[in-house]
Amino acid sequence: MARVNDNYLKLKSSYLFSDIAKRVKAFQDANPGAKLIRLGIGDVTQPLPPAVIAALHAATDEMTRRETFKGYGPETGYEFLLELIARHDYAPRGVKLAPDEIFVSDGGKQDSGNIQEIFAADAVVALMDPVYPVYVDSNVMAGRSGVPDERGRYAGFVYMPCTAENNFRPALPDRHVDLIYLCYPNNPTGAVLRPDALKTWVDYARREQAVILYDAAYASYIREPDVPHSIYEIEGARECAIEFRSYSKTAGFTGVRCAYAIVPKELSGRGPKGEPVSLNSLWFRRQSTKFNATPYIIQRGAAAVYTPEGQQQVKALIDFYMENARIIREGMEAIGLTVYGAKNAPYIWVKTPAGLDSWGFFDKLLHEAHVVSTPGAGFGPAGEGYLRLTAFGQRDQTEEAVERIRTKLAR
Ligand code: PLP
Repeated sequence: MARVNDNYLKLKSSYLFSDIAKRVKAFQDANPGAKLIRLGIGDVTQPLPPAVIAALHAATDEMTRRETFKGYGPETGYEFLLELIARHDYAPRGVKLAPDEIFVSDGGKQDSGNIQEIFAADAVVALMDPVYPVYVDSNVMAGRSGVPDERGRYAGFVYMPCTAENNFRPALPDRHVDLIYLCYPNNPTGAVLRPDALKTWVDYARREQAVILYDAAYASYIREPDVPHSIYEIEGARECAIEFRSYSKTAGFTGVRCAYAIVPKELSGRGPKGEPVSLNSLWFRRQSTKFNATPYIIQRGAAAVYTPEGQQQVKALIDFYMENARIIREGMEAIGLTVYGAKNAPYIWVKTPAGLDSWGFFDKLLHEAHVVSTPGAGFGPAGEGYLRLTAFGQRDQTEEAVERIRTKLAR
């Protein structure tokens, strides 16, 4: 028998959403008549924007003719998309990017999970708690975690608790770290960072020669004008940060798959003799070896997001979800619950009522309101005492879920 990678044995045995699925199935089996409303997993529900569909069709037709057929594409993305990303997502916010600093991929999950490969096996990793589980598990697989304690915290990671007490903005680590995962707008808490807070992180990273891995998958949900969309809006960030973006939640691409990472050319890591090594070159090397480019058809679909119709349709999509967020937020507040997020993010982070922990509140909503949520504790120990609802549902279902929770909790 081939010896396995022991690090995989340190992973928590099941993914949070499998645990939820089991509880939901047990409930559904016992109550076949119950009509569940799912406000748990963060998957979108609305169809792709028509401009994207038209572009996907047109690109598919191109594949039927020898003159326009495309085979393997450039590993980091077609020029047409790189140019659109730089022009639309960054230039208007005062950020200048060269095309070879942009790496188009098939997912923010892949990018934020794979990026750790270009860093040393003994790099010290700092993680927000609660956290998007991919950052944790990818570093466990890579052997950086040490063993977990009884609360599920790994000895080798530096955890940065994010709770209402610190406004879901973690304190700087009190020791040296090499890699810092930040996610804003945040999944699961819905929190954002304003420029002064983000600058504190950039200054810290430069001082410590650390790299910030900035996940901005939800940047398009930002409503308030003073919230940065990109970490590169902060001076000095090009020397210390990699950024991830995705079309998944922006344009309904969860099943279509397109995203990108930004690795600025100023950004260096340290080689064996302390010499600077370009992270842009390493990521290029990694991607060109292990990733064979996002399909041409899909990149054409992503490019359509930037057309005037595409922009209008994407805005309508996000407005739709943010209206759901408002409905949920106000609905929960009206029944006396304390609610965070939902203003610049599609996530509503609800404080559990007195006497109920995260899973207790999850069970109550499931059993009494037939609403599926996500227990905050599933995102890390500091998520205990909270529950996540998402704004990605259908409108009528979202309204009904709020109404059901209202009537059940009001009793
Ligand atoms: N980053 C965060 C914080 C997310 O919540 C998600 C999806 O839920 C992703 C990345 C993954 O995005 P993608 O669909 O592009 O892989």
